[in-house]
Amino acid sequence: MRLLILLWTLPTTLIGIIAAIIWLSLGAKARLAHGVLEIHGGKFAYWMMARGFAAMTLGHVILGFSASRLEQLRSHEHVHVRQAERWGIFFIPAYLLAGLWQRMRGRHIYYDNPFEQEAFAVDAIQIKRQAGIKKAP
Ligand SMILES: [Zn+2]
Repeated sequence: MRLLILLWTLPTTLIGIIAAIIWLSLGAKARLAHGVLEIHGGKFAYWMMARGFAAMTLGHVILGFSASRLEQLRSHEHVHVRQAERWGIFFIPAYLLAGLWQRMRGRHIYYDNPFEQEAFAVDAIQIKRQAGIKKAP
């Protein structure tokens, strides 16, 4: 079953691998973490950060500003990994169309995108859990 999921996600992951090769050629570093190829740092990371993006998930590849930022964003980005596994080849068009649909309705293309809202909901749960842990004696 896992192999089928990997194959179903492969078109999106291949785009991520092409982006990873470009990032690595510009000084980024790579690591495997939690079943995903994580790419961080390098010149492209600064370009991305300057445009307000800390991380981006393309299938089983996550591109991020830094290793520590990837750790902070891991739960959010792994929601996108699961979305890519669910949507397969349709993930990127569905994501873009969902954002465009929100913009056409006068809403925010990113924050109101249902794919992002699902990921932010997981972030909120994580923050509540961490707050709960801190309050425990
Ligand atoms: Zn996101």
